[in-house]
Amino acid sequence: MPFDSPSTAQTDADVLLVGGGLAASLVALRLKRDRPALRIILLERERRIGGEHTWCHFASDVTPAVSGWLSPLIAHDWSGYEVRFPTHRRTLTTPYRAVTSDLLHKVMSELLGADAWLGVDATEVRVDRVRLADGRRLFAPLVIDARGPRRSDQLVLAWQKFIGREVRLETPHGISRPIVMDATVPQDDGYRFFYVLPTGPDRLLIEDTRYSDRPALDTALIEAEIDAYALAHGWRVAAIERQEHGVLPIALAGDIDAYWEQSPSAAADAGLRAALFHPTTGYSLPDATRQAELVAALPELSTTLARAGLEQLSKRLWKQRAFYRLLNRMLFRAARPDQRYRVLERFYRLPQPLIERFYAGGSTLPDKLRLLSGKPPVPIGAALACLSERPLLAERADA
Ligand SMILES: Cc1cc2nc3c(=O)[nH]c(=O)nc-3n(C[C@H](O)[C@H](O)[C@H](O)COP(=O)(O)OP(=O)(O)OC[C@H]3O[C@@H](n4cnc5c(N)ncnc54)[C@H](O)[C@@H]3O)c2cc1C
Repeated sequence: MPFDSPSTAQTDADVLLVGGGLAASLVALRLKRDRPALRIILLERERRIGGEHTWCHFASDVTPAVSGWLSPLIAHDWSGYEVRFPTHRRTLTTPYRAVTSDLLHKVMSELLGADAWLGVDATEVRVDRVRLADGRRLFAPLVIDARGPRRSDQLVLAWQKFIGREVRLETPHGISRPIVMDATVPQDDGYRFFYVLPTGPDRLLIEDTRYSDRPALDTALIEAEIDAYALAHGWRVAAIERQEHGVLPIALAGDIDAYWEQSPSAAADAGLRAALFHPTTGYSLPDATRQAELVAALPELSTTLARAGLEQLSKRLWKQRAFYRLLNRMLFRAARPDQRYRVLERFYRLPQPLIERFYAGGSTLPDKLRLLSGKPPVPIGAALACLSERPLLAERADA
């Protein structure tokens, strides 16, 4: 039968999840919680679910109900975190949590058993079926396409890029909470900071992060910077346990309606592919929990219903988050690269609840006024030129 032939009685699963990353895994976890008998097949190109990641979030980014079903994935839970800037240091008491890809792989493998298909490449994703590179076809009433970000000229992006090394030290480090931003380092390649997670008494994940105009990562250079940072703090490295890298999208402007019109698959796009991420941090875990809740609440397992719901969620959040894109334009287009840290230093002088709402994507009108009030650490003329998304969208159209 040709791949395109209309409906068939064949059904291999209730749900096909294409791409076994964060978004698909959270959908599976949430669906199985209420309906353990559902047959969910997850199709992942690599030999491992979840790649090589440490996904962090603040406790205040998600509801207590979400924290409940997410808990099997939490590898580390800290009672607060620190930030360090040239003229300001602060400890905040917002709990900070990490999901690791090691734990995600273990939990998902146990949950799905033989229905986690690893090392399979999905080449065609349709409303009710998926074709694999080896020619096999699978059918289900709900097909979710979570194959990671989709390139599009409808979104104007900058980048949060980093390399992180998890190291075992010769002696305990004595650090009890994450340093989420240490911006006391030279400000190369945009806003630059180190991110340090204590993952064990003698283990640290050390990341060199840059908010940059360019996505390219100079791996050798950044690895050397991580070594130098460890040395400068007196941490003698016994072994490099693992390494991860990321180039996360930071949204400056975009036409979300056109982005969805260009979606090549008729399946339900999810995760970064559905443009579901915080515009300023590029983080997608909180949004991935929202979409998992949405899929679990569908009145029936149907790609059409899921796609409509996820598209609506993506568009609604994109439109609601225009303010964060404005701040990003000020950071990237108005502030001098070596002065961008001052925007964040000022941000971290604000009250903790405002900071929590910012990361949760729920800033109130008074929060927004507070964020914009006072003497901005960017030239006022340049800041005013950033007010509208239109010039960036027009630049993109002319390019
Ligand atoms: C190293 C790193 C750290 C991050 N840290 C955080 C964080 O701390 N907090 C946070 O909220 N966000 C974080 N992010 C951002 C974001 O949450 C992640 O990128 C997240 O993994 C995106 O989820 P996703 O499911 O959309 O895509 P992914 O997790 O990338 O999953 C996509 C999956 O699809 C698979 N795939 C692709 N094509 C095919 C195909 N043809 N057939 C089968 N499978 C395919 C890929 O192999 C991959 O496993 C981080 C990103 C990176 C890269």
